[in-house]
Amino acid sequence: MAELTNIEIEKQREYIQKMRLVNEVRKTAPKAFVETYGCAQNENDSERICGMLFDMGYEFCDDVKDADLVIYNTCAVRENAELRVFGNLGALKHLKAKKSSLIIGVCGCMVQQGHIAEQIKKKYKHVDMVFGTHALVRLPQLLWEAMENGRAFDIHSSDGEIFEGITTKREKLPLAKIPIMYGCNNFCTYCIVPYVRGRERSRTMESVLKEVREVAELGYKEVMLLGQNVNSYGKDLDCGTSFAKLLTEVCKVDGIERVRFMTSHPKDISDELIEVMAENDKICKQLHLPVQCGSDRILKKMNRSYTREKYLDIVKKVREKMPDIVLTTDIIVGFPGETNEDFEETMSILREVEYDMIFSFIYSKRKGTPAAEMEDCLSPEEKHKNFERMVEFQNVISKKKNDAYLGKCEKVLVEGPSKNNPEFLSGRTDGGKIVNFQGKDTLVGEIVTVKITEVKTWSLIGEIID
Ligand code: SF4
Repeated sequence: MAELTNIEIEKQREYIQKMRLVNEVRKTAPKAFVETYGCAQNENDSERICGMLFDMGYEFCDDVKDADLVIYNTCAVRENAELRVFGNLGALKHLKAKKSSLIIGVCGCMVQQGHIAEQIKKKYKHVDMVFGTHALVRLPQLLWEAMENGRAFDIHSSDGEIFEGITTKREKLPLAKIPIMYGCNNFCTYCIVPYVRGRERSRTMESVLKEVREVAELGYKEVMLLGQNVNSYGKDLDCGTSFAKLLTEVCKVDGIERVRFMTSHPKDISDELIEVMAENDKICKQLHLPVQCGSDRILKKMNRSYTREKYLDIVKKVREKMPDIVLTTDIIVGFPGETNEDFEETMSILREVEYDMIFSFIYSKRKGTPAAEMEDCLSPEEKHKNFERMVEFQNVISKKKNDAYLGKCEKVLVEGPSKNNPEFLSGRTDGGKIVNFQGKDTLVGEIVTVKITEVKTWSLIGEIID
Protein backbone atom coordinates (compact mmCIF):
# COMPACT_ATOMS: atom_id res chain seq x y z
CA MET A 1 0.00 0.00 0.00
CA ALA A 2 2.85 2.37 0.87
CA GLU A 3 4.32 1.97 -2.62
CA LEU A 4 0.98 2.69 -4.30
CA THR A 5 0.56 5.75 -2.14
CA ASN A 6 3.94 7.09 -3.18
CA ILE A 7 3.17 6.48 -6.86
CA GLU A 8 -0.06 8.49 -6.50
CA ILE A 9 1.75 11.34 -4.75
CA GLU A 10 4.44 11.42 -7.46
CA LYS A 11 1.76 11.49 -10.16
CA GLN A 12 0.00 14.39 -8.45
CA ARG A 13 3.29 16.26 -8.13
CA GLU A 14 3.56 16.12 -11.92
CA TYR A 15 0.09 17.68 -12.23
CA ILE A 16 1.01 20.33 -9.66
CA GLN A 17 4.00 21.19 -11.81
CA LYS A 18 1.88 21.35 -14.99
CA MET A 19 -0.69 23.59 -13.30
CA ARG A 20 2.06 25.79 -11.94
CA LEU A 21 3.53 26.34 -15.39
CA VAL A 22 0.10 27.33 -16.71
CA ASN A 23 -0.49 29.72 -13.84
CA GLU A 24 2.95 31.31 -14.03
CA VAL A 25 2.36 32.67 -17.54
CA ARG A 26 -0.80 34.49 -16.46
CA LYS A 27 -0.47 38.24 -15.83
CA THR A 28 -1.76 37.83 -12.30
CA ALA A 29 -1.89 34.75 -10.12
CA PRO A 30 -5.31 33.03 -10.17
CA LYS A 31 -7.36 33.33 -7.00
CA ALA A 32 -8.96 30.50 -5.07
CA PHE A 33 -11.87 30.74 -2.67
CA VAL A 34 -12.10 27.71 -0.35
CA GLU A 35 -15.01 27.37 2.07
CA THR A 36 -15.08 24.67 4.73
CA TYR A 37 -18.11 23.16 6.45
CA GLY A 38 -18.14 20.85 9.45
CA CYS A 39 -15.51 19.49 11.77
CA ALA A 40 -11.82 19.99 12.54
CA GLN A 41 -10.96 17.05 10.25
CA ASN A 42 -12.54 18.93 7.37
CA GLU A 43 -10.63 22.07 8.34
CA ASN A 44 -7.45 20.05 8.17
CA ASP A 45 -8.44 18.64 4.76
CA SER A 46 -8.95 22.23 3.58
CA GLU A 47 -5.48 23.11 4.82
CA ARG A 48 -4.14 20.36 2.58
CA ILE A 49 -6.33 21.50 -0.33
CA CYS A 50 -4.96 25.04 0.10
CA GLY A 51 -1.42 23.63 0.36
CA MET A 52 -1.79 21.91 -3.02
CA LEU A 53 -3.38 25.03 -4.56
CA PHE A 54 -0.56 27.16 -3.21
CA ASP A 55 1.96 24.78 -4.81
CA MET A 56 0.04 25.17 -8.09
CA GLY A 57 0.48 28.94 -7.94
CA TYR A 58 -2.90 30.02 -6.56
CA GLU A 59 -3.42 32.97 -4.27
CA PHE A 60 -6.42 33.08 -1.96
CA CYS A 61 -9.37 35.47 -1.70
CA ASP A 62 -12.17 36.00 0.82
CA ASP A 63 -14.84 37.03 -1.66
CA VAL A 64 -16.25 34.45 -4.02
CA LYS A 65 -16.77 37.20 -6.65
CA ASP A 66 -12.98 37.63 -6.98
CA ALA A 67 -12.32 33.92 -7.45
CA ASP A 68 -11.06 31.98 -10.46
CA LEU A 69 -11.58 28.75 -8.54
CA VAL A 70 -14.23 28.02 -5.89
CA ILE A 71 -14.05 24.90 -3.75
CA TYR A 72 -16.66 23.94 -1.15
CA ASN A 73 -15.32 21.33 1.26
CA THR A 74 -18.57 19.90 2.56
CA CYS A 75 -19.97 18.10 5.60
CA ALA A 76 -22.60 15.34 5.62
CA VAL A 77 -23.32 15.13 9.33
CA ARG A 78 -26.46 17.29 9.26
CA GLU A 79 -28.95 18.18 6.58
CA ASN A 80 -28.67 21.94 7.19
CA ALA A 81 -25.04 22.10 6.08
CA GLU A 82 -25.94 20.21 2.90
CA LEU A 83 -28.77 22.62 2.12
CA ARG A 84 -26.40 25.55 2.55
CA VAL A 85 -23.98 24.04 0.04
CA PHE A 86 -26.77 23.49 -2.49
CA GLY A 87 -27.89 27.10 -1.93
CA ASN A 88 -24.36 28.39 -2.52
CA LEU A 89 -23.93 26.24 -5.62
CA GLY A 90 -27.20 27.57 -7.01
CA ALA A 91 -26.04 31.14 -6.46
CA LEU A 92 -22.78 30.47 -8.33
CA LYS A 93 -24.67 29.77 -11.54
CA HIS A 94 -24.97 33.51 -12.23
CA LEU A 95 -21.31 34.09 -11.48
CA LYS A 96 -20.29 31.32 -13.87
CA ALA A 97 -22.57 32.79 -16.56
CA LYS A 98 -20.62 36.07 -16.28
CA LYS A 99 -17.19 34.46 -15.98
CA SER A 100 -17.01 31.26 -17.99
CA SER A 101 -13.41 30.53 -16.94
CA LEU A 102 -14.52 30.11 -13.32
CA ILE A 103 -13.92 26.56 -12.03
CA ILE A 104 -16.32 25.32 -9.36
CA GLY A 105 -15.49 22.29 -7.23
CA VAL A 106 -17.30 20.43 -4.46
CA CYS A 107 -15.50 17.92 -2.27
CA GLY A 108 -15.71 16.28 1.15
CA CYS A 109 -18.14 14.02 2.96
CA MET A 110 -21.35 15.27 1.34
CA VAL A 111 -20.30 14.27 -2.19
CA GLN A 112 -18.86 10.95 -1.02
CA GLN A 113 -22.54 9.89 -0.91
CA GLY A 114 -23.38 8.56 -4.38
CA HIS A 115 -26.89 10.05 -4.53
CA ILE A 116 -25.57 13.56 -3.82
CA ALA A 117 -22.81 13.28 -6.42
CA GLU A 118 -25.44 12.15 -8.94
CA GLN A 119 -27.70 15.06 -8.02
CA ILE A 120 -24.88 17.54 -8.62
CA LYS A 121 -23.92 15.84 -11.88
CA LYS A 122 -27.48 16.08 -13.23
CA LYS A 123 -28.85 19.29 -11.75
CA TYR A 124 -25.80 21.53 -11.22
CA LYS A 125 -24.19 21.37 -14.62
CA HIS A 126 -22.13 24.50 -13.89
CA VAL A 127 -20.13 22.50 -11.29
CA ASP A 128 -16.85 21.37 -12.85
CA MET A 129 -15.28 19.13 -10.22
CA VAL A 130 -16.68 16.72 -7.65
CA PHE A 131 -14.34 14.65 -5.50
CA GLY A 132 -14.94 12.66 -2.36
CA THR A 133 -12.90 12.38 0.84
CA HIS A 134 -10.75 9.56 -0.58
CA ALA A 135 -9.84 11.52 -3.71
CA LEU A 136 -8.58 14.67 -2.00
CA VAL A 137 -4.99 13.96 -2.96
CA ARG A 138 -6.02 13.82 -6.64
CA LEU A 139 -7.11 17.46 -6.69
CA PRO A 140 -4.24 18.59 -9.01
CA GLN A 141 -5.16 15.99 -11.65
CA LEU A 142 -8.90 16.69 -11.34
CA LEU A 143 -8.33 20.41 -11.69
CA TRP A 144 -6.22 19.81 -14.78
CA GLU A 145 -8.88 17.51 -16.27
CA ALA A 146 -11.70 19.95 -15.45
CA MET A 147 -9.82 22.70 -17.29
CA GLU A 148 -9.01 20.43 -20.25
CA ASN A 149 -12.24 18.45 -20.58
CA GLY A 150 -14.93 20.49 -18.87
CA ARG A 151 -15.90 18.22 -15.94
CA ALA A 152 -14.07 15.83 -13.57
CA PHE A 153 -15.69 13.50 -11.02
CA ASP A 154 -13.98 11.17 -8.55
CA ILE A 155 -15.92 9.67 -5.67
CA HIS A 156 -14.32 6.22 -5.65
CA SER A 157 -14.25 4.68 -2.20
CA SER A 158 -11.01 2.82 -1.70
CA ASP A 159 -10.42 3.66 1.91
CA GLY A 160 -7.12 1.98 2.69
CA GLU A 161 -4.83 4.79 1.67
CA ILE A 162 -3.08 7.38 3.74
CA PHE A 163 -1.19 9.94 1.75
CA GLU A 164 1.85 11.50 3.38
CA GLY A 165 3.86 14.45 2.14
CA ILE A 166 1.08 16.75 0.91
CA THR A 167 1.87 20.44 1.47
CA THR A 168 -0.35 21.88 4.20
CA LYS A 169 -1.22 25.57 4.27
CA ARG A 170 -1.89 25.95 7.96
CA GLU A 171 -3.88 28.38 9.98
CA LYS A 172 -1.82 31.10 11.58
CA LEU A 173 0.31 30.42 14.67
CA PRO A 174 0.07 29.16 17.37
CA LEU A 175 -2.23 26.12 16.85
CA ALA A 176 -1.53 23.35 14.32
CA LYS A 177 -4.10 20.64 13.66
CA ILE A 178 -2.59 17.25 12.91
CA PRO A 179 -4.63 14.20 11.87
CA ILE A 180 -3.44 10.99 13.50
CA MET A 181 -6.03 8.70 11.92
CA TYR A 182 -8.85 8.68 9.41
CA GLY A 183 -12.26 6.99 9.33
CA CYS A 184 -14.30 5.25 11.99
CA ASN A 185 -15.34 1.67 12.81
CA ASN A 186 -18.11 2.41 15.25
CA PHE A 187 -21.22 2.73 13.12
CA CYS A 188 -23.32 4.73 15.55
CA THR A 189 -26.73 4.31 13.96
CA TYR A 190 -27.30 8.03 13.31
CA CYS A 191 -23.88 8.76 11.83
CA ILE A 192 -22.83 8.92 8.20
CA VAL A 193 -19.11 9.26 8.91
CA PRO A 194 -18.06 5.56 8.56
CA TYR A 195 -19.79 5.48 5.17
CA VAL A 196 -18.13 8.61 3.84
CA ARG A 197 -14.74 8.46 5.56
CA GLY A 198 -14.23 4.69 5.55
CA ARG A 199 -12.77 2.39 8.21
CA GLU A 200 -10.17 3.44 10.78
CA ARG A 201 -6.66 3.93 9.42
CA SER A 202 -3.93 5.20 11.74
CA ARG A 203 -0.94 7.12 10.52
CA THR A 204 2.32 5.64 11.75
CA MET A 205 3.78 7.17 14.88
CA GLU A 206 6.87 8.24 12.89
CA SER A 207 4.70 10.16 10.36
CA VAL A 208 2.77 11.94 13.11
CA LEU A 209 5.94 12.81 15.04
CA LYS A 210 7.65 14.06 11.87
CA GLU A 211 4.76 16.46 11.29
CA VAL A 212 4.75 17.57 14.93
CA ARG A 213 8.49 18.32 14.71
CA GLU A 214 7.93 20.27 11.49
CA VAL A 215 5.24 22.47 13.01
CA ALA A 216 7.34 22.99 16.15
CA GLU A 217 10.17 24.25 13.94
CA LEU A 218 7.76 26.65 12.26
CA GLY A 219 6.95 28.12 15.69
CA TYR A 220 3.64 26.40 16.52
CA LYS A 221 3.38 25.92 20.27
CA GLU A 222 0.17 23.93 20.40
CA VAL A 223 -0.94 20.87 18.45
CA MET A 224 -4.40 19.39 18.23
CA LEU A 225 -4.35 15.69 17.33
CA LEU A 226 -7.36 14.77 15.25
CA GLY A 227 -9.35 11.60 14.66
CA GLN A 228 -13.00 10.52 14.73
CA ASN A 229 -12.05 8.36 17.69
CA VAL A 230 -8.47 9.06 18.78
CA ASN A 231 -8.75 6.50 21.58
CA SER A 232 -8.54 3.66 19.09
CA TYR A 233 -5.40 5.11 17.48
CA GLY A 234 -2.90 2.38 16.56
CA LYS A 235 -5.20 -0.63 16.90
CA ASP A 236 -4.91 -1.26 13.15
CA LEU A 237 -1.13 -0.88 13.15
CA ASP A 238 -0.54 -4.14 15.04
CA CYS A 239 2.63 -2.89 16.67
CA GLY A 240 1.46 -2.53 20.26
CA THR A 241 1.17 1.23 20.13
CA SER A 242 -1.71 3.21 21.61
CA PHE A 243 -3.01 6.74 21.73
CA ALA A 244 -1.54 7.20 25.21
CA LYS A 245 1.90 6.18 23.89
CA LEU A 246 1.58 8.56 20.95
CA LEU A 247 0.61 11.42 23.28
CA THR A 248 3.65 10.72 25.45
CA GLU A 249 5.96 10.91 22.43
CA VAL A 250 4.32 14.07 21.05
CA CYS A 251 4.87 15.79 24.38
CA LYS A 252 8.62 15.11 24.09
CA VAL A 253 8.93 17.27 20.95
CA ASP A 254 10.88 20.44 21.74
CA GLY A 255 8.94 23.64 21.21
CA ILE A 256 5.49 22.05 21.66
CA GLU A 257 4.02 23.38 24.88
CA ARG A 258 0.42 22.23 24.63
CA VAL A 259 -1.21 19.13 23.23
CA ARG A 260 -4.97 18.71 22.72
CA PHE A 261 -7.02 16.07 20.94
CA MET A 262 -10.46 15.45 19.43
CA THR A 263 -12.60 13.27 19.63
CA SER A 264 -12.74 10.53 22.26
CA HIS A 265 -15.30 7.75 22.14
CA PRO A 266 -16.18 6.92 25.77
CA LYS A 267 -16.10 3.16 25.12
CA ASP A 268 -12.41 3.30 24.21
CA ILE A 269 -11.03 5.64 26.84
CA SER A 270 -8.37 3.69 28.72
CA ASP A 271 -6.94 3.99 32.24
CA GLU A 272 -3.54 4.35 30.53
CA LEU A 273 -4.82 7.44 28.70
CA ILE A 274 -6.27 9.00 31.86
CA GLU A 275 -2.94 8.38 33.67
CA VAL A 276 -0.89 9.89 30.85
CA MET A 277 -3.17 12.94 30.69
CA ALA A 278 -2.98 13.49 34.42
CA GLU A 279 0.78 13.10 34.64
CA ASN A 280 1.87 15.15 31.66
CA ASP A 281 1.74 18.93 32.08
CA LYS A 282 1.83 19.51 28.33
CA ILE A 283 -1.45 17.65 27.78
CA CYS A 284 -4.26 20.15 28.14
CA LYS A 285 -6.74 19.35 30.85
CA GLN A 286 -9.68 19.39 28.50
CA LEU A 287 -11.72 16.39 27.46
CA HIS A 288 -14.50 16.30 24.88
CA LEU A 289 -16.41 13.13 25.74
CA PRO A 290 -19.56 12.82 23.61
CA VAL A 291 -22.38 11.22 25.61
CA GLN A 292 -25.14 11.94 23.02
CA CYS A 293 -27.98 10.93 25.37
CA GLY A 294 -28.62 10.06 29.02
CA SER A 295 -31.01 7.17 28.46
CA ASP A 296 -29.66 3.59 28.23
CA ARG A 297 -32.55 2.63 25.97
CA ILE A 298 -31.61 5.30 23.42
CA LEU A 299 -27.86 4.75 23.81
CA LYS A 300 -28.49 1.15 22.77
CA LYS A 301 -30.53 2.24 19.76
CA MET A 302 -27.67 4.59 18.88
CA ASN A 303 -25.19 1.66 19.11
CA ARG A 304 -22.96 3.69 21.39
CA SER A 305 -21.63 0.60 23.25
CA TYR A 306 -21.71 2.12 26.75
CA THR A 307 -24.35 2.63 29.38
CA ARG A 308 -25.08 5.75 31.34
CA GLU A 309 -23.49 4.11 34.39
CA LYS A 310 -20.29 3.20 32.54
CA TYR A 311 -20.07 6.73 31.12
CA LEU A 312 -20.50 8.28 34.57
CA ASP A 313 -17.80 5.94 35.93
CA ILE A 314 -15.38 7.31 33.32
CA VAL A 315 -16.24 10.89 34.27
CA LYS A 316 -15.64 10.01 37.93
CA LYS A 317 -12.25 8.43 37.16
CA VAL A 318 -11.22 11.40 35.02
CA ARG A 319 -12.21 13.91 37.71
CA GLU A 320 -10.48 11.94 40.46
CA LYS A 321 -7.21 12.18 38.53
CA MET A 322 -7.77 15.71 37.13
CA PRO A 323 -10.16 17.67 39.35
CA ASP A 324 -9.89 20.83 37.22
CA ILE A 325 -10.55 19.13 33.88
CA VAL A 326 -12.76 21.05 31.48
CA LEU A 327 -15.39 18.61 30.24
CA THR A 328 -17.48 19.12 27.14
CA THR A 329 -19.88 16.85 25.30
CA ASP A 330 -22.21 16.35 22.32
CA ILE A 331 -25.95 15.79 22.73
CA ILE A 332 -28.51 14.70 20.15
CA VAL A 333 -32.08 15.72 20.98
CA GLY A 334 -35.00 13.86 19.39
CA PHE A 335 -33.27 10.69 18.23
CA PRO A 336 -35.89 8.36 16.67
CA GLY A 337 -37.86 6.66 19.41
CA GLU A 338 -36.80 9.16 22.11
CA THR A 339 -39.63 9.90 24.53
CA ASN A 340 -39.93 12.76 26.98
CA GLU A 341 -38.83 10.34 29.72
CA ASP A 342 -35.62 9.57 27.77
CA PHE A 343 -35.05 13.28 27.32
CA GLU A 344 -35.39 13.82 31.09
CA GLU A 345 -32.55 11.31 31.53
CA THR A 346 -30.39 13.47 29.29
CA MET A 347 -31.30 16.51 31.40
CA SER A 348 -30.35 14.58 34.53
CA ILE A 349 -26.93 13.62 33.12
CA LEU A 350 -26.27 17.30 32.36
CA ARG A 351 -27.25 18.10 35.96
CA GLU A 352 -25.04 15.34 37.30
CA VAL A 353 -21.89 15.91 35.23
CA GLU A 354 -22.08 19.71 34.98
CA TYR A 355 -20.23 20.03 31.68
CA ASP A 356 -18.42 23.25 30.90
CA MET A 357 -20.06 23.32 27.53
CA ILE A 358 -22.24 21.14 25.32
CA PHE A 359 -22.62 20.95 21.56
CA SER A 360 -26.23 20.01 21.02
CA PHE A 361 -28.28 19.31 17.93
CA ILE A 362 -31.72 18.15 17.02
CA TYR A 363 -31.43 14.75 15.32
CA SER A 364 -30.96 15.07 11.56
CA LYS A 365 -31.97 12.09 9.41
CA ARG A 366 -29.09 10.80 7.25
CA LYS A 367 -30.02 8.64 4.28
CA GLY A 368 -28.26 5.25 4.38
CA THR A 369 -27.91 5.07 8.17
CA PRO A 370 -29.95 2.61 10.30
CA ALA A 371 -31.54 5.42 12.34
CA ALA A 372 -33.09 6.89 9.18
CA GLU A 373 -35.41 3.85 9.11
CA MET A 374 -36.41 4.09 12.80
CA GLU A 375 -39.74 5.46 13.93
CA ASP A 376 -40.12 8.75 15.75
CA CYS A 377 -42.07 9.29 18.96
CA LEU A 378 -41.86 13.05 19.44
CA SER A 379 -43.23 15.73 17.12
CA PRO A 380 -40.83 18.37 15.68
CA GLU A 381 -42.44 20.93 18.05
CA GLU A 382 -41.76 18.75 21.10
CA LYS A 383 -38.15 18.20 20.00
CA HIS A 384 -37.63 21.95 19.59
CA LYS A 385 -39.18 22.64 22.97
CA ASN A 386 -36.91 20.08 24.64
CA PHE A 387 -33.90 21.40 22.77
CA GLU A 388 -34.52 24.98 23.87
CA ARG A 389 -35.12 23.95 27.45
CA MET A 390 -31.87 22.02 27.46
CA VAL A 391 -29.84 24.90 25.99
CA GLU A 392 -31.25 27.31 28.58
CA PHE A 393 -30.49 24.87 31.36
CA GLN A 394 -26.93 24.28 30.15
CA ASN A 395 -26.28 28.02 29.78
CA VAL A 396 -26.80 28.39 33.52
CA ILE A 397 -24.36 25.55 34.22
CA SER A 398 -21.77 26.93 31.76
CA LYS A 399 -21.95 30.35 33.41
CA LYS A 400 -21.63 28.78 36.86
CA LYS A 401 -18.55 26.81 35.71
CA ASN A 402 -17.01 30.01 34.36
CA ASP A 403 -17.83 31.91 37.57
CA ALA A 404 -15.28 29.71 39.33
CA TYR A 405 -12.53 31.41 37.28
CA LEU A 406 -13.28 34.93 38.57
CA GLY A 407 -10.18 36.38 40.23
CA LYS A 408 -7.96 33.47 39.19
CA CYS A 409 -4.77 33.78 37.15
CA GLU A 410 -4.70 31.66 34.02
CA LYS A 411 -1.95 30.82 31.54
CA VAL A 412 -3.31 31.88 28.15
CA LEU A 413 -1.84 31.04 24.75
CA VAL A 414 -2.55 34.13 22.65
CA GLU A 415 -4.17 33.29 19.30
CA GLY A 416 -4.85 36.73 17.78
CA PRO A 417 -7.33 39.60 17.84
CA SER A 418 -10.69 38.82 19.40
CA LYS A 419 -13.36 38.05 16.78
CA ASN A 420 -15.92 40.30 18.47
CA ASN A 421 -13.67 43.20 19.46
CA PRO A 422 -10.43 43.71 17.49
CA GLU A 423 -9.11 45.95 20.27
CA PHE A 424 -8.84 42.86 22.44
CA LEU A 425 -6.58 39.86 22.08
CA SER A 426 -8.02 36.41 22.39
CA GLY A 427 -6.45 33.19 23.58
CA ARG A 428 -7.21 29.96 25.39
CA THR A 429 -6.52 28.57 28.80
CA ASP A 430 -5.07 25.10 29.20
CA GLY A 431 -8.66 23.86 29.57
CA GLY A 432 -9.63 25.53 26.27
CA LYS A 433 -11.65 28.44 27.73
CA ILE A 434 -11.59 31.55 25.56
CA VAL A 435 -10.09 34.58 27.32
CA ASN A 436 -10.24 38.12 25.90
CA PHE A 437 -7.94 40.85 27.20
CA GLN A 438 -6.12 43.98 26.09
CA GLY A 439 -2.53 43.62 24.95
CA LYS A 440 -0.06 44.18 22.15
CA ASP A 441 -0.18 42.20 18.88
CA THR A 442 3.38 41.08 19.52
CA LEU A 443 1.99 38.74 22.19
CA VAL A 444 0.33 36.52 19.59
CA GLY A 445 1.84 33.06 19.91
CA GLU A 446 3.05 33.69 23.48
CA ILE A 447 1.77 32.17 26.70
CA VAL A 448 0.86 34.98 29.13
CA THR A 449 -0.71 35.12 32.56
CA VAL A 450 -4.12 36.75 32.66
CA LYS A 451 -6.15 37.57 35.75
CA ILE A 452 -9.83 36.90 35.14
CA THR A 453 -11.88 40.00 35.95
CA GLU A 454 -15.21 39.27 34.28
CA VAL A 455 -17.06 36.13 33.38
CA LYS A 456 -19.51 35.43 30.56
CA THR A 457 -21.34 32.25 29.59
CA TRP A 458 -18.99 31.38 26.71
CA SER A 459 -15.84 33.33 27.50
CA LEU A 460 -13.73 35.02 30.15
CA ILE A 461 -12.37 38.57 30.24
CA GLY A 462 -9.19 39.50 32.00
CA GLU A 463 -6.13 41.67 32.49
CA ILE A 464 -2.65 40.63 31.56
CA ILE A 465 -0.35 40.51 34.59
CA ASP A 466 3.00 39.67 33.03
S1 SF4 B 1 -17.84 7.28 16.77
FE1 SF4 B 1 -19.96 7.20 16.06
S2 SF4 B 1 -20.53 9.38 15.93
FE2 SF4 B 1 -18.30 9.32 15.98
S3 SF4 B 1 -17.69 9.29 13.83
FE3 SF4 B 1 -17.77 7.15 14.50
S4 SF4 B 1 -19.84 6.49 13.94
FE4 SF4 B 1 -19.85 8.74 13.88
